[in-house]
Amino acid sequence: MDKSVTIDFEFDWGSRIKSDYAIRHVSEKILQIFKKQNAKGTFFISTETLPSSKEYIKMISDEGHEIASHGHRHTLDYDTKSKEELLFEIKTSKELLEDLTGKQIIGFRTPAFKRSKYTDEILEDLGFIYDSSTTRSSLRHRYKPMQYANSKKLIYVSISTIRDKLPSGVKWINLFGYKLTGDKPYIIYAHPFDFLSMREILKLYDRDKISPTVLLFYLARVGSLYNTLEKIVQNSTTIEDLIKNEVYTRENLS
Ligand SMILES: [Zn+2]
Repeated sequence: MDKSVTIDFEFDWGSRIKSDYAIRHVSEKILQIFKKQNAKGTFFISTETLPSSKEYIKMISDEGHEIASHGHRHTLDYDTKSKEELLFEIKTSKELLEDLTGKQIIGFRTPAFKRSKYTDEILEDLGFIYDSSTTRSSLRHRYKPMQYANSKKLIYVSISTIRDKLPSGVKWINLFGYKLTGDKPYIIYAHPFDFLSMREILKLYDRDKISPTVLLFYLARVGSLYNTLEKIVQNSTTIEDLIKNEVYTRENLS
């Protein structure tokens, strides 16, 4: 099966709190699971995490996984930034990752599915080959599928969906089962913070400020997320390899 399991490295809960706890406590275990299954994946890095994630990213890259860009700061306004601001975030991230890995960074994923009318142009100018910021989810209001995705040069690597609704996050697969629909190859995603226990969440968050979203995250952890990941990473490869093997072509832009 053509599939890539992708991991988004960012501060906890998409930088809602500036904590690097999950990166420090979960990264190695995720890597071990890939290794055990002899699988490869693509890791999208928000480079504001580099002070804590640097050593893991080197390790990930050296083990043959793909490193890609998840922007510099993981802010939730990548759809409303000016062109200069957006260029700064994406360019900074690409340069930092290329310095760190010594490899060309060809893939990008925008934070929170927020594409802008400038995203295509900036990615093309910076020499990116693909963008994995889109989804075929039918929840148009929340996930804005294929927003501003009009490039003739970029390859759009859409995140798969569960029953055409939810994007295929490992936490949702854990909750609703592994019945993906829509375009192949399957592109699945997870974050290090998805794997934290409720006890760890309570330690990180001010108990009074725990939002329903965070509780949902916890609910989605019914059963062991690590076991789910172990099943899901079987036969996973990097997006770069899917492209090399011509699973994607520019003619069949997804
Ligand atoms: Zn993210």
